[in-house]
Amino acid sequence: MEFKTIIEPFKIKSVEPIHMSTEEQRAGYMANAHYNPFLLQSREVIIDFLTDSGTSAMSSEQWAGIMRGDESYAGAVSWERLQHEIQGLTGYPHILPTHQGRAAEHILYSYLGGAGKVFISNTHFDTTRANIEFNGAMAIDIPAPEARDRNSDYPFKGNIDTRMLDEHIRNYGAENIGAVILTVTNNSGGGQPVSMQNAKDAAAICKKYGVLFIIDCCRIAENSYFIRHFEPEYSNVPYREIAQQMFSLADGAIMSAKKDALVNMGGFLALKNAELAEACMGLLIINEGFSTYGGLSGRDMEAIAIGLKEVFDEGYLNYRIKSTRYLGEHIKAKGVPVLYPIGGHAVYVNAGMLYPHIPVDQYPGQALVCELYRIGGIRAVEIGSVMFGKYDDNRKLIPAPIELVRLAIPRRVYTQSHIDYTVEVFDEIVKNAANTKGLRITKEPKFLRHFTAHFEPIG
Ligand SMILES: *Cc1c(COP(=O)(O)O)cnc(C)c1O
Repeated sequence: MEFKTIIEPFKIKSVEPIHMSTEEQRAGYMANAHYNPFLLQSREVIIDFLTDSGTSAMSSEQWAGIMRGDESYAGAVSWERLQHEIQGLTGYPHILPTHQGRAAEHILYSYLGGAGKVFISNTHFDTTRANIEFNGAMAIDIPAPEARDRNSDYPFKGNIDTRMLDEHIRNYGAENIGAVILTVTNNSGGGQPVSMQNAKDAAAICKKYGVLFIIDCCRIAENSYFIRHFEPEYSNVPYREIAQQMFSLADGAIMSAKKDALVNMGGFLALKNAELAEACMGLLIINEGFSTYGGLSGRDMEAIAIGLKEVFDEGYLNYRIKSTRYLGEHIKAKGVPVLYPIGGHAVYVNAGMLYPHIPVDQYPGQALVCELYRIGGIRAVEIGSVMFGKYDDNRKLIPAPIELVRLAIPRRVYTQSHIDYTVEVFDEIVKNAANTKGLRITKEPKFLRHFTAHFEPIG
């Protein structure tokens, strides 16, 4: 018997109080934050959907692991455990611990990259692209054509375009390709999953040309859920085995443990090739720390090792994906335009379609994040023209291709009633949609303006 109500496959041992602010208080908080949710204090927020990165709740096992952490400089027991767990999961012999995903990216992509090199991905995550471009190399995104069709419910919109992949490798020359990077799930591409077939096809192309194939595996457990439920051959394969099969196709992996390792900080680089690993080890020791702790304390490594096991639990993944989908489907049913199908870690609302009367240079996405906060104390992030907009020579806005707002769901943190509350807040959002006004930017830095820009409401 499958029940309709989603229940959390855990019970609560320790609670963190939420300050239940009033709409009036929030109006003041928002004005103080210059209408930019990044400038709000977390205690001013009721439900925080800013990011799923580093915001997971750890289990009692992980907290017990924190106490067991061995803080020896070299060869700590906690390192042995972590190394063993990652080797077992990925099948790669060489494991380099780092303090975050981007540190692993910095090490690998600065070694492989530099002027004249080209990296190809389904979609480079922003830190991935930054690490590649900072060293003078080029980062090319080739999401599969299905991703562009907003109305299709194709389940693997995170795929890489394999026809383009073959073409690009031939055009740029295999010797100039730094690596092909498959991001699973495709975070910047709407959190959409990648199919095993697509990973196999990409791997075969890389093999044909002798090009290095890397998996950005931040959300590989969530991706495994989609493979099992939408790729018939895998319907009986356990989630962890699906991940293992995907790793077996590649030459290495990079992970931000702040996602599917269910911890608040950490990352790693895992590699098949001994020489490449040795070269990266040199950079690891210079930049992060000795090879048996990287940028991590023993207790962190202990918690990551445990989280990497827990994340493949059937009950957990079932609740995780269903709860995200529940939020997306329910607001969609109320007429809120969302990216579809709903991905693994977040729901993406198309604010441009929700507020067709707000011009792009009055930032419909920013208007929605402000409404979510005013009405419900919910913090979300704009990923439209505030984040990606540029100016032309006459300071006219070149808008982003799409005005999105992302509601990223922290893992194991909120309950189904928090999700139901969010759905209810969207009733008001929809009711007020026609009267919602845009904002203008009053102050902005040169780079990464979304973090610190100031706004004021128009009218
Ligand atoms: C978060 C993330 C990273 C970077 O990891 P950090 O731990 O934030 O440095 C890289 N790739 C993807 C797909 C991510 O989601």
